[in-house]
Amino acid sequence: MANNKYKIGTIGSHSALQILRGAKDEGFETVVFCKKNMTPVYKSFGVADEIIEIKDYSEVFEQCSDNIIMIPHGSFIEHIEKLKEMKGLYYGNKEILDWESDRNQERKWLSNAGIKLPKIFQNASEIDRPVIVKFHGAQGGKGYFLARDEQDFKTKIADHPDKKYQLQEYIIGVPMYIHYFYSVIHEELEVLGFDKRYESNVDSIGRISARDQMALKSVDPSYVVVGNIPLVIRESLLGNVFDMGHKVIKESRKITKNGLFGPFCLEGVLTPEQEFYIFEISARIVAGTNPYISGSPYSYVKYKEEMSTGRRIAREIKQAIEKDRLSEIIN
Ligand code: AMP
Ligand code: AMP
Repeated sequence: MANNKYKIGTIGSHSALQILRGAKDEGFETVVFCKKNMTPVYKSFGVADEIIEIKDYSEVFEQCSDNIIMIPHGSFIEHIEKLKEMKGLYYGNKEILDWESDRNQERKWLSNAGIKLPKIFQNASEIDRPVIVKFHGAQGGKGYFLARDEQDFKTKIADHPDKKYQLQEYIIGVPMYIHYFYSVIHEELEVLGFDKRYESNVDSIGRISARDQMALKSVDPSYVVVGNIPLVIRESLLGNVFDMGHKVIKESRKITKNGLFGPFCLEGVLTPEQEFYIFEISARIVAGTNPYISGSPYSYVKYKEEMSTGRRIAREIKQAIEKDRLSEIIN
């Protein structure tokens, strides 16, 4: 069987359980590169045929080999330079990484695709409404803060010298993360699910009365993601969801040679007017797909079997191998 020649590998964190389970379900042998304290985790769940211990994630890129197809996820992005240089087999389009990891490039991509984005303020003096201050790079919301005006921003940014940031209009609505998959083999855009994040401490501030919040002067909202909550959206919004996905794919083919494919996620806020404002794109599997390791309502409707995003990746790879088209999806 073609699968025997290739193993599927990833870093042991983020969505590795899902990726490895999916790979095994599609008949692949699996390898996980993890830190020592995570070895018992992958042993216990039995999804890794091989566990390779590393001291730092960056070592992974030196240990890749020609028979392990590496599936990127959130833990790879912090080592983007090494990732770009990585030898061995990488699932996805490395060219897109530069667009994903820089907030200004990302914004260019999305706005040229015709996606609605929160307003950006280039200078603090332009701030005329509440803003969310975001640092560059995938940090899972760490360190973000809200500022109501210029003065408030100046006071708060003093705690973060030398950091690159973006000043974004704060959109009032509900956060929503859309999990897409674009299949190169079937030339088709799929919607596999949605999630919302569980963020500390912003998701619990509401448990304290306004009076007590005032009393606790040091409580500022923070957006550190610690988990994900599954979500099903109003069906009439799905037309818009597919439309945004198609636009992003179309534009990605203008900015890079092979465009975006495989799993990706549009991350935004849905307003009471039912408008999506997208503030970020992740061009890879997101951890918000983890609640759906045994499939989401949407993937069940389409596949009538347990189809996670991790398994969908493995199936695409399997079909590419069978059709001798692996080079189209491997960098
Ligand atoms: P980790 O491997 O957990 O250190 O995470 C790597 C990156 O992915 C970090 O930027 C995290 O903030 C992000 N991340 C990890 N888990 C989640 C999650 N459940 N939802 C969203 N982002 C996450
Ligand atoms: P991110 O790390 O970019 O996914 O953002 C982390 C969290 O910050 C999101 O889940 C939202 O709760 C919130 N957020 C980010 N950008 C905005 C925005 N422009 N307006 C409102 N909330 C936002």
